[in-house]
Amino acid sequence: MSTTSTADHDVPVLIVGGSLVGMTTAALLGHFGVPTMVVERHRGTAIHPRAAFIMQRSMEIMRTIGIEGAIRDRSSEQFDQDAAIMAVVTLAGEEIAWYLPRLNDGVRDLSPSERLFASQIAIEPLLEQRARELGADIRFGTELVDFEQDDDGVTARIRDRDGGPVATVRSRYLVAADGVKSGIRDRLGLTQTGHGTFSKSVTIYFRADVRPLLRDRTLGVIMVVNDTLQGFFRIQKPYQAGFLAVHGLGDPADPNADVWTGLTQERCVELVRAGLGVPDIDVTIDDVMKWQASADVTDRWRDGRVILVGDAAHVMPPYGGYGGNTGIHDAHNLAWKLAAVLDGTAGPELLDTYEAERKPVAAFTVEQAYARYVVRAAPSLRAGGFEQTVDDANIDLGTRYRSAAIVEDPDQAFEVHGHPRDLHGVPGSRAPHVIVPIGGSPASILDLFGRGPVLLAASGAAAWADDAREAAGRTGIDLEVHVVGEPDGGFAEQYGITDSGAVLVRPDGIVAWRARAVQDGTARELEDALTSVFGRAGDPASAR
Ligand SMILES: Cc1cc2nc3c(=O)[nH]c(=O)nc-3n(C[C@H](O)[C@H](O)[C@H](O)COP(=O)(O)OP(=O)(O)OC[C@H]3O[C@@H](n4cnc5c(N)ncnc54)[C@H](O)[C@@H]3O)c2cc1C
Repeated sequence: MSTTSTADHDVPVLIVGGSLVGMTTAALLGHFGVPTMVVERHRGTAIHPRAAFIMQRSMEIMRTIGIEGAIRDRSSEQFDQDAAIMAVVTLAGEEIAWYLPRLNDGVRDLSPSERLFASQIAIEPLLEQRARELGADIRFGTELVDFEQDDDGVTARIRDRDGGPVATVRSRYLVAADGVKSGIRDRLGLTQTGHGTFSKSVTIYFRADVRPLLRDRTLGVIMVVNDTLQGFFRIQKPYQAGFLAVHGLGDPADPNADVWTGLTQERCVELVRAGLGVPDIDVTIDDVMKWQASADVTDRWRDGRVILVGDAAHVMPPYGGYGGNTGIHDAHNLAWKLAAVLDGTAGPELLDTYEAERKPVAAFTVEQAYARYVVRAAPSLRAGGFEQTVDDANIDLGTRYRSAAIVEDPDQAFEVHGHPRDLHGVPGSRAPHVIVPIGGSPASILDLFGRGPVLLAASGAAAWADDAREAAGRTGIDLEVHVVGEPDGGFAEQYGITDSGAVLVRPDGIVAWRARAVQDGTARELEDALTSVFGRAGDPASAR
């Protein structure tokens, strides 16, 4: 790198934006051994709760980096566990629907991890601490000024908000985790496609004694649809405070979607009272945050060495609670690929699979969030059309990838999602959770993943495991081979193979290839699969 010596800082990956997704990216890259610098304009982690519904896949990812337990603890301090997602006319009054009466009903056996509520205020400091432990250099109160890229890397200029000279950072890659208003996306001229912006929304943070109104119901997200407002409450323990997000005013069939205009303190109090359904309840307003409800996907997620993650790449209304989760999944998909390219294990083509895999999943998720918004709280948008809603489990655990980093079965049909109970380890899907013996004790098979690629061999393929190791040896890729012992929790069936089959799982826990039954030539197939998953079709030296 010709410019390295002149830069003030030199780091493999510069992450711009240190909120939920940027911090997750830093922690995951650290987990894979990649040092990062994170620059975040704000002076610290989140001051507004925003995302709180954290899904099973995100918790599995947090488990990989060792903070699942800490998030669970913070969650139980903040919220009731297993709470409902439902809708009311007012909290004190009529109920409209119970969308998810208990958060984990029907999905508990699908994962070692549970869905929970934990706000960005709770999660971001845990991610920050973990990212720092794993080597990230995190700089709050620091912003990206501009950047230029060349064939070898990116030179960025950053500045401390409190003054001081502009410093230069040379990195091999720049990850844009700079949110919905991404300046990096704009600077690169990357366009977005979708429904655009459909509401100037606000979140009103308030204090009021709402405990009596809960009437012993355990409620996580409470949507409100009445003739004064449309939006949702989230109420925190000990039920003396929460927020009301408002995206529509007046008649739900013909709402005013500009909540920003004329929003005085008194008006905020009125809105909270109208949502609670108690006209004279004492309400104190702590803060008001403006945001826009939009549903868009960025058309290209990568420009050379600059890669978009999180809200910079996709934005969706907070109905279903997918926005932050989708960003966490982006980071997870990207981190091992960047790590493998940077250490030369993979060819640079592997990075092309990031957008190929994540963009269709994000587009599907954005449409699902939009459909939930229309169906649950914005009936006036029905006429414009929306997708049929599918089970939350499909969105969380059942999305599928198709790219050069997946070797599909010969007869494989493709859809971007399916129910996790029906996927049976089809290549491109998340490796299913089953309980198997690991180190002599029963544990989730997912605990084997998260470092390098893993080959799972059914007991009848135990003798073939040595051939598999030899095949991996020829590629130079470190492959962990695990023969699944008894009791295997239905491993072969869950992974769609026979009891002499084998499955290759990527570091992000996605099934990359499988052999229903090993036979002559299967070791060669595995070798080809590893080569193709790691983008080694070209010259590996060019990856460096
Ligand atoms: C009311 C509400 C409720 C929500 N609930 C949920 C939920 O339950 N579940 C869920 O999954 N999602 C939810 N979301 C969505 C979720 O909050 C977002 O998807 C998530 O915050 C996106 O994270 P991000 O890191 O991509 O972007 P952001 O959180 O927007 O972070 C981007 C960061 O980049 C920084 N930045 C920008 N430009 C620069 C620069 N030049 N230099 C340095 N720093 C810069 C910003 O300061 C910012 O901190 C909700 C959103 C809202 C508004």
